[in-house]
Amino acid sequence: MVKIERSFPAPSSLEAEAKKKSGSYEKSDVVERLKQDFHNKCYICELKNLQDPQVEHLLPHKNGRYPERKFDWNNLFWSCGHCNGVKNQNIYDSGILDCCKVDPEKRIIFRLKEEQIELLPLMKQADEETDRTIELIKAVFNLRNTGMRVYKSDMRLKELQKEMNILFKNLNDLKKRPDKRIVLYKLRALLKRESAFAAFKRCYVRERIDEYPQLESYIQ
Ligand SMILES: [Zn+2]
Repeated sequence: MVKIERSFPAPSSLEAEAKKKSGSYEKSDVVERLKQDFHNKCYICELKNLQDPQVEHLLPHKNGRYPERKFDWNNLFWSCGHCNGVKNQNIYDSGILDCCKVDPEKRIIFRLKEEQIELLPLMKQADEETDRTIELIKAVFNLRNTGMRVYKSDMRLKELQKEMNILFKNLNDLKKRPDKRIVLYKLRALLKRESAFAAFKRCYVRERIDEYPQLESYIQ
């Protein structure tokens, strides 16, 4: 999970739809804007180019029990169906980090360790939202309570490993040829917030910045 810059003003359909008896919070203007603002990446698992994107409510509207949440632009997020489904449990109802308002990279350490993800709070006394966010991200990579979830969690873990291997290859190339501009160019793209699994890649480099001082500006 990385920081997202939400654009304003809110898509215009939201205000009109909120006044209707059964209005929709996913008209084209909302969908297009979320896709753009979130770089077509699930804000929870960071999988790119989603086949099954969904408009997710950070704080659930509970079938309209909280109508003010349903059409609130600040409460609408871009996620994959897998993460939306996993998050749809009472334990997450009191909220996770709002990545449009706080920078998750300043709260959480993201690591891939021996084919498992490891997420730790950065601060000794983490707030509840950080703890719940950690639980949720761990769950979307690890949950195996149905056959489909085994498949979807494994798929995300494999995609993360693939992306990390591309990063490792380029970091190796950089060590061998520190003057090669194409390698720096590739690393800059790999470390952009909009790239797949950016939080994990940026954290890896951040924790080894002494070895790669020339990448400092790419992880700001
Ligand atoms: Zn996801």
